[in-house]
Amino acid sequence: MSGILVVTGGSRGIGAATAILGAKRGFSVAVNYNNSPDRADQVVAEIQAAGGTAHAIQADVSTEAGATSLFEQVDSKLGTVTALLNNAGIIQKNALIADYTAAMINEQMTINVTSQFLCAREAVKRMSTDNGGSGGAIVNMSSAAARLGGGGSLLAYAASKGAIDTFTKGLAAETAKQGIRVNAVRPGLIETEIHDGTGDMDRINNLMAGVPMGRAGTALEVAEAVIWLLSHEARYVTDTNVDVTGGR
Ligand code: NAP
Repeated sequence: MSGILVVTGGSRGIGAATAILGAKRGFSVAVNYNNSPDRADQVVAEIQAAGGTAHAIQADVSTEAGATSLFEQVDSKLGTVTALLNNAGIIQKNALIADYTAAMINEQMTINVTSQFLCAREAVKRMSTDNGGSGGAIVNMSSAAARLGGGGSLLAYAASKGAIDTFTKGLAAETAKQGIRVNAVRPGLIETEIHDGTGDMDRINNLMAGVPMGRAGTALEVAEAVIWLLSHEARYVTDTNVDVTGGR
């Protein structure tokens, strides 16, 4: 596998695992981060120690300036993007419908949805065979929450991931004849730091009983699905949603 992989939110969790696995499989990797330069540097160091190529790039991908600057820096430091993992995201504190304000809803949607639109736009501009590009593949990070609905705790988060499923379907159709494949991965309960954002510091243990396989997943288990979707082996796969949920 070769090419240039951009991972948004690559400094921790699923993004970091995908950056490291992607580099092992031959991608040169842009490890995007927003607030955690040390964590992004650790991911880059691990990739370089194994003989791979990676750069850490700071950008708030939920903003026009951030998304644009990320891809300009990738152009100059690594070359033209061929694979994108739209991964950056947050989970807010648990809330019921009565608790929501416009500011909370907009924050959740801007970070989880607007960011994926902006980064996909920058990637498609460069990948599209209509613009002289060589094509590429995009994976959008969704969640099982898109199916489960998030009622009782995470309504806005779940709705943001529902939007990602619809975005994936539309973008796949729009770009299929431009040499670009677009798919989504829907992780279930995965052991990362994101759960702390809910305010429930024992969230994984509290939800474990609802996982048919009886355990949480690992970031690597999600990364493996992502890298397959980005690979040549998935060359006839587009507009697909892969659940990595232990049956949840
Ligand atoms: P995580 O460990 O909390 O990591 C989140 C990453 O997103 C960090 O690298 C963070 O970077 C980055 N990020 C957040 N806002 C950003 C912004 N505005 N611009 C750039 N980077 C930003 O989370 P995770 O569990 O790996 O989740 C990754 C994705 O998987 C998310 O989209 C999440 O919704 C989805 N997911 C996770 C689970 C799960 O159980 N863990 C389940 C389903 C779906 P900084 O630290 O540098 O800010």
